[in-house]
Amino acid sequence: MTGIDTSEAEEIIRWSLANYDDVVMTTGLNLSGTVLLDIASRAGFAGKLIFVDTGYHFPETLHFWQSLEARYSRISFVKLRSNTESGFLFETDPVKCCQINKIAPLSEYLSILKPSALINARTRDSARGRSQLQIVEEGSPTHINPLVNLSRLELEKYAKARHLEIHPLYLSGFLSMGCWPCTKAVRPGDDQRSGRFNGQGRTECGLWGSL
Ligand code: SF4
Repeated sequence: MTGIDTSEAEEIIRWSLANYDDVVMTTGLNLSGTVLLDIASRAGFAGKLIFVDTGYHFPETLHFWQSLEARYSRISFVKLRSNTESGFLFETDPVKCCQINKIAPLSEYLSILKPSALINARTRDSARGRSQLQIVEEGSPTHINPLVNLSRLELEKYAKARHLEIHPLYLSGFLSMGCWPCTKAVRPGDDQRSGRFNGQGRTECGLWGSL
């Protein structure tokens, strides 16, 4: 027992497994992704968990990925990386940098794998722009968002009750993890994604609109 009602999320994941036998999961290794992985594992998910290594992640993020891989041995961990060297493109053209290092590796992988559905850990309270997020977004692949109705506080309580290891920088204010050149800690009370794409006038990389 965790004291947090995650029955909706569990039910959505079971429904996904029953209706999309090739469903895969993506993660950014945030708190929500860590909780989703745990709930999904308990609900019987044993498919692919996909993470894009942009080449600019904090070392803690890469260590954390390895640690999760050791904990959830039934799940197939897939780490993608661009073959294109982009140097300091994050300074001169960050949108293109995201396209090359984040969006393209995942898009290309999915275009080969062609899963019918993709589970991810986005929540409505993580950003103003996500407040209308639906549980199921029909498409090719269909996007399934089991955690939409859980708050950050609930995710924290779940992680604590389940003794989950969370990203080591989370408690330092990195409420949404991204690449080191573009991510800063969030000030108390600010939007969870306000630390992302620092000074670039955006809080999304464009990934979800492109898949
Ligand atoms: S978040 Fe920054 S460093 Fe990472 S891919 Fe996008 S622009 Fe490049």
